[in-house]
Amino acid sequence: MVTTLLFILGAIVGSFINVVGLRWGTEETLGGRSHCTSCGKNLSWYELVPVLSFLFLRGKCRKCGAKISWQYILIELWTGLVFTSVFNVIAPSDLLSTIYYLLFTLIFSIYIVILIYDWYHKIIPDELVYTAILLSVVSRWLSVSSTLDWLAGPILFAFFGLIWLLSKGRAMGFGDAKLGLSVGLLLGATQGFSAIVLAFWIGALGSLIFIFLNKVGLPAQAGFIKGAKGLTMKSEIPFAPFIIISAWISFVFNLNIINVALF
Ligand SMILES: [Zn+2]
Repeated sequence: MVTTLLFILGAIVGSFINVVGLRWGTEETLGGRSHCTSCGKNLSWYELVPVLSFLFLRGKCRKCGAKISWQYILIELWTGLVFTSVFNVIAPSDLLSTIYYLLFTLIFSIYIVILIYDWYHKIIPDELVYTAILLSVVSRWLSVSSTLDWLAGPILFAFFGLIWLLSKGRAMGFGDAKLGLSVGLLLGATQGFSAIVLAFWIGALGSLIFIFLNKVGLPAQAGFIKGAKGLTMKSEIPFAPFIIISAWISFVFNLNIINVALF
């Protein structure tokens, strides 16, 4: 029962996250009516129901028939999953664990906005990542932490910062280093390092699949990326989405792949 309600709440927050992620840093305010990005038609309430509207409209605008990006339903479903899965892991039972739950869902919600923004702009807004870092410090402070848990954030920051420096910003943005700092602080040593190893695995696999699908023209057709055609091995593929998805997986499954990765 609680799980169902949290999923619905998460999906609603997810539809809000979609709007925030797309409008962040643009002239458009958050208060403006939602509209079709193709024909500008204002959407009615029944076209704005998370998940269901997308299915009901079969992924198309009712007026002009333009395809609605899969981003909307995927982010709504995923945010719903985040709200329920984090609840199952933390299992809030008192004030402290409830605060802990709220912190985690808030941080992951910010991560998802970062994911959307980085996907389209290949840059991470400072306001978002600094807020995430600050909240991560609070959650680390509330947890039982070893010295290494506290150091996990700075270590990941140094790691990504070094890649950024050595590749002169080509392989990794400096924003990824800040995001690494937040993930390390949030998840601690074992889960934090595991998340980053997983991010590289998924990143490598995801890039290959994406480049393959792009040859077929699928991402552009599905509306995932505007002008995605012509993406090659050399194109900059944003890394933050991989870090964020991996951080969630690592936390939910209490991942420990350091030993596997190092030895
Ligand atoms: Zn339209």
